[in-house]
Amino acid sequence: MTANIRTMVACPTCRKPVAWIAAETFKPFCSERCKLIDLGDWATEAHKIPGPPLLDEDDENSDFESY
Ligand SMILES: [Zn+2]
Repeated sequence: MTANIRTMVACPTCRKPVAWIAAETFKPFCSERCKLIDLGDWATEAHKIPGPPLLDEDDENSDFESY
């Protein structure tokens, strides 16, 4: 009997244990899907731009009404 002890890591997306071996192409992710999900999340966060509400439009409207 041989104890086959491998290094295990948790998938950053779904927390599923992944064996740190050459066969796990997407490590530390458990699958390509989880890898893409993580990359997608990161891209979404990076592209978030907080914008202030546009109040100028209201001024324009009242100006147009008085004309
Ligand atoms: Zn996963």
